[in-house]
Amino acid sequence: MGISRILIANRGEIALRIHRAAHEMGIETVAVHSTADADAMHVRLADHAVCIGPPPATDSYLNVANIISAAEVSQADAIHPGYGFLSENAKFAEIVEAHDIAWIGPKPEHIRTMGDKVAAKKTAGALGLPLVPGSDGAVETVEQGRAIADEIGYPVIIKAASGGGGRGMKVCESEDQLETLMKQAGSEAKAAFGDATVYIEKYLGDPRHIEFQVFGDGNGGAIHLGERDCSLQRRHQKVFEEAPSPVLGEDDRMRMGEICAQAMRDMAYRGAGTIEFLWENGEFYFIEMNTRLQVEHPVTEAITGVDLVREQIRIAEGRPLSITQDEIEFKGHAIECRINAEDPWTFAPSPGEVTHYHAAGGMHVRVDSGLYAGYRIPPYYDSMIAKLIVYGRTREGCMMRLKRALEEMVVEGVKTSIPLHQELLQQDDVKSGNYSIKWLEEWLKTRE
Ligand code: ADP
Repeated sequence: MGISRILIANRGEIALRIHRAAHEMGIETVAVHSTADADAMHVRLADHAVCIGPPPATDSYLNVANIISAAEVSQADAIHPGYGFLSENAKFAEIVEAHDIAWIGPKPEHIRTMGDKVAAKKTAGALGLPLVPGSDGAVETVEQGRAIADEIGYPVIIKAASGGGGRGMKVCESEDQLETLMKQAGSEAKAAFGDATVYIEKYLGDPRHIEFQVFGDGNGGAIHLGERDCSLQRRHQKVFEEAPSPVLGEDDRMRMGEICAQAMRDMAYRGAGTIEFLWENGEFYFIEMNTRLQVEHPVTEAITGVDLVREQIRIAEGRPLSITQDEIEFKGHAIECRINAEDPWTFAPSPGEVTHYHAAGGMHVRVDSGLYAGYRIPPYYDSMIAKLIVYGRTREGCMMRLKRALEEMVVEGVKTSIPLHQELLQQDDVKSGNYSIKWLEEWLKTRE
């Protein structure tokens, strides 16, 4: 089934990214936006625009009834959810499909399973993925928690089954803290996600975060597109991502990538997905699977030449994967910097009017952003305003180009995280790729 008009159920840079892929395929776009986003770049560029509500996301970007009405009124025949908002909402995916609108995403049942981290871990284990040692499922009582923690050894991490975005996690160093932290984790999870279910896993000492990009055709065919290293994080949120990982060799990549791809074949997974692992002492430990496009997908596009959004749209049309595993070649190195409207050192949000804007350019430099001079960054949403993605034949060359590109970026009127990235690039550990998920926060402490 060919798609002729895609409704983009998102905002910001990812809405623009989807619009671009659609237009390159000759497909029309419908932007849906809150009143705060009427002037957004993707709204201006889209073929049609529908206002779906006031600024708070619950009234607009999460408003299922209004989004479905907008799709009907504008006669969209497909919906792309981007990332965040409704992208991993299985119910929404079902409603879209029930309206005979193509859902540019995985099968609802797979979104549901992977969205519950306890179920996701069980599924991943059954599919042969290596797991972080921990509870077999939900931990219901403190006694159960104690027994598991004794078995795997402290420190442990208590996680929310419905968690996401790095929220709802508690590290527990010793038995005397367990009861309090389990209760806290449960009530925080209940408040944030409406589900108090928690589980426990071993807290790894100093791992890296390495994730594999996978793609399934929905009929038992699947490929992997290698890994991304997203270890530079603050509060479990990614700041800087690269592909390939500086620590993985070709053998590890192909071995682990094939395990992931096989798991997707066994599930008959459809569309784009990311399987996230922690990596320590040469071992991989599955933590979760994201059933959507990731923020950092462009680094994979840069080293493989595959347009992942185009591929998503093709799969939603019922077409086969455009590329076989054997045809995928990993070439060179790519790095992405997430640029946020915030103070680079206190991380306090800095919304407001962008008075001057100039995007970096030149060979192998990509800026995904809806910014323009005169644009007002609304205070209601995520603070990420741009992604700078740079490619080089070698990691060293990529770092040099990134430094040059950051010098060219001009965003005035608001504070941004550009100075943070500039300083990061000067650190020996970043230059050599010698960092774990703890590195960034420890380095920030030394700067205080
Ligand atoms: P979320 O869905 O909230 O992003 P994840 O399970 O993906 O949660 O974990 C996010 C981050 O938290 C990881 O990238 C890692 O930095 C840290 N983390 C999660 N589980 C563990 C663990 N068992 N040991 C150490 N760090 C962990």
